[in-house]
Amino acid sequence: MIRIILSGPPGAGKGTQGKRLAAALAVPAISTGDLFRDQVRRRTETGVALEALVAAGDFVPDAITNAMVAERLEQSDAANGFILDGYPRTPDQVVELDRMLAARGVALDAAVLLDVPDDMVATRLAGRAELGRADDTDEVIRHRIALYHRETAPLTVLFDARGLLVRVDGSDLPDVVQARLLAALEPLRRRASTAA
Ligand code: ADP
Repeated sequence: MIRIILSGPPGAGKGTQGKRLAAALAVPAISTGDLFRDQVRRRTETGVALEALVAAGDFVPDAITNAMVAERLEQSDAANGFILDGYPRTPDQVVELDRMLAARGVALDAAVLLDVPDDMVATRLAGRAELGRADDTDEVIRHRIALYHRETAPLTVLFDARGLLVRVDGSDLPDVVQARLLAALEPLRRRASTAA
């Protein structure tokens, strides 16, 4: 029973850590990037429409992103908690997420920021280029990092003001970062289990 958003620059390890946290905390990891890539792979109408935009590293329009998350959160496995990886990334997405949660009478437990310096994320992303993600080319990587700093990083202030920000150093091997995350979330887990 824990509701977390996981943010950080591209290549911070949100996907890896989101899945690991989901297993450890028994809630689904919901990655908007994965949801979009799945649409593209399945050649759905949305997928075909968004393919070029995602490959260029641009944000998917808020209305589409918000609708996709709203639909996903309605699935039964998300009723008792979730880890949202890569959402919200814009002020409008924050507003919409607030609305979705308020409508269910629930609230976020934490906004986790995976901190990794830019030179390290660029190296990591370039290193996984062989995985074949269309958006892992040098130019698109630079664009995604810039977009993160311009649009998403400023949202950190907002979650900090709400007392939800949990900043975790993501600049180590996955096992080390995972241990850090679990340690940082331990007080929350205890609170959640006593509340249940
Ligand atoms: P990364 O964090 O490395 O950029 P993701 O897998 O989270 O990777 O996202 C991949 C792409 O999916 C983004 O570049 C963007 O095109 C789209 N996307 C994912 N999440 C969002 C979001 N919250 N808002 C808009 N677009 C998104």
